[in-house]
Amino acid sequence: MKRFSLFFFTALIFLSIAASLPAYGQPSPTPTPAPKTVYIRAGHLFDGTGDKTRDNMVIVVVGDRIQSVSPAGAASVPAGAMVVDLSHATVLPGLIDCHTHLGSRADRYDEIYSFKDTPFQSAFAAVVHARKTLEAGFTSVRDVGSLPFLAVDLRNSINEGLVPGPRIVASGPPISITGGHGDLNNFSPQTRVSMFPEERDFAIADGVDQIRHVVRSQVKYGVDVIKILATGGVLSKGDSPGAPQFTFEELKAAAEEAHMAGRKIAAHAHGTQGIKNAILAGIDSIEHASLIDDEGIRLAKEHGTYLVMDIYNDDYILGKAIEFGLPKENVEKEKMVGRLQRENFEHAFKSGAKMAFGTDAGVYPHGDNAKQFFYMVKFGMSPAQAIRAATSSAADLIGRAKDVGTLEAGKFADVIAVTDDPLQNVRALENVGFVMKGGVVVKNVIAGKL
Ligand SMILES: [Zn+2]
Repeated sequence: MKRFSLFFFTALIFLSIAASLPAYGQPSPTPTPAPKTVYIRAGHLFDGTGDKTRDNMVIVVVGDRIQSVSPAGAASVPAGAMVVDLSHATVLPGLIDCHTHLGSRADRYDEIYSFKDTPFQSAFAAVVHARKTLEAGFTSVRDVGSLPFLAVDLRNSINEGLVPGPRIVASGPPISITGGHGDLNNFSPQTRVSMFPEERDFAIADGVDQIRHVVRSQVKYGVDVIKILATGGVLSKGDSPGAPQFTFEELKAAAEEAHMAGRKIAAHAHGTQGIKNAILAGIDSIEHASLIDDEGIRLAKEHGTYLVMDIYNDDYILGKAIEFGLPKENVEKEKMVGRLQRENFEHAFKSGAKMAFGTDAGVYPHGDNAKQFFYMVKFGMSPAQAIRAATSSAADLIGRAKDVGTLEAGKFADVIAVTDDPLQNVRALENVGFVMKGGVVVKNVIAGKL
């Protein structure tokens, strides 16, 4: 007995000494280098906090965050420092798209791919789409619907530095009623696509109990936000965009569960009644909001609900998408909804509803996100207001206002630049020439050699 414990005592000492020494052959740990400092010279700066630009500013970036923003005269740039010269450009906060589907492709619409493809094909496409989105100047996105749990995995892979892409606020699959916008309708009952039958694919839920279960399951697997389908849709079959899906009680249960878990919840809603149900149920943003009426606008203002109205993609759907084989039923639905959505966007904005930028990327090609700015200006916003919808307001909606959305000390150094003046011509944002995410330059065609 005594010898036994002595043996253990000796072994313990040996092990603790071994643990405190560097392993044989490994270099001794080097001290972590001081975070890199970069000085960005901005000819014009739109920082996202207001509607104005300031000229000749310097942004000091230390590591992945902004240390200071000040007039060039007040900033001392040490000799030999790393300087990004954007003195001929307009510098803005990284843009934010609150409604994307990074796993979706805009070059095919046939539902047969739901049966032919494995989820990995969506994932490979998503890696390509993430990079295109980032290079277009969108340094943050909210993904509001993909296969389980593609957006979560993509978010994690980007955060690990494995693949390039924007910061992602990830949802799971959109939650749908049986036969609703998120279900695969009009196929034989013998046909089904199901990866996780025991969890009903984390998507289809009927009744309050199933909704609570699906929301909890999505939270369990790491989503940042819940997406629910409160009305029919345009690109689904056998349902009407105007018709409510889910009862008020069901939507309320979803919002309660999401909020209890510290998550926000977004509702897809085209139809007038479904929009009101969702707002009254406590949902944080209404996606599409196509047929919103005065009462819906009043309720949105009263409840502080954001409207995320995707008013660019109509042109793509009624053009290229038809070429790519979009079925007639969906074309007709888009024709019905698209024009009204644009009119209602203008009316809702002028009535004072909160608006955040969201485009439904994936319905049209990823990387073209900035094309929507032109339409937002055409339908009532000033360029500055449209840009703020995609920066400070979007950051507020996605719950990341302390990190992104404006160029201020303490925020992530998510910075973009364009050579033309976007406050004169908002289409300048369709050609972003410089992108920095978290202090790292990911694209530069205008700042000269760094
Ligand atoms: Zn969508």
